[in-house]
Amino acid sequence: MLFKSAKTHTVRTAGDPVLRQTAARVEAVTPEIRKLAADMIAAMKVFDGIGLAAPQIGRSLRLVVMDVPPGDGAGPALTKGEKVLLPLMPVTLVNPRIISFSGDTGEREEGCLSVPDVFAPVVRPLRVVLQSELLDGSTVELECGGLLGRCIQHELDHLDGVLFTDRLAPAAAARIAGDLERLIRDGAGRDFKRMRRR
Ligand code: ZN
Repeated sequence: MLFKSAKTHTVRTAGDPVLRQTAARVEAVTPEIRKLAADMIAAMKVFDGIGLAAPQIGRSLRLVVMDVPPGDGAGPALTKGEKVLLPLMPVTLVNPRIISFSGDTGEREEGCLSVPDVFAPVVRPLRVVLQSELLDGSTVELECGGLLGRCIQHELDHLDGVLFTDRLAPAAAARIAGDLERLIRDGAGRDFKRMRRR
């Protein structure tokens, strides 16, 4: 019987300088960019994430993949962005940007594949208007709320060198400070690489 050979996926963890850089624009959707997006989707799935930005695999480019699950329908009415994008998951965003944020905010626990085993509540605007290119060359401009709106804000932060741990209230920041320091210290010994095979 033949088996597909397992591929090793690597995610960079807190302390890696690539996570602090401002990522460069994707100039054109080339076959190499499509391959990179496919690799990112595979890595996101292997690590059980719902979003991944290219810097997290060591590529400082404005490219994001997301696999946000459909909601349970219990929350507020879906935004246009959720209606359009959730059925397309996993979706790739090329040069995404947020053109406006809602005034109202909400708090929700976040985690990050680059900050494993650390979870803390982050206050963010409840909805954002996302403008992005998609891999098919189209451009979307959509208001996105719910978990999707939060995931977009978290992932786009990565493109500007920001981690969710930068956005914590002082009490939450103090609570995770020891874990974060340990993660950075341990990470230095393995070149800030976290690996998983599938
Ligand atoms: Zn993250």
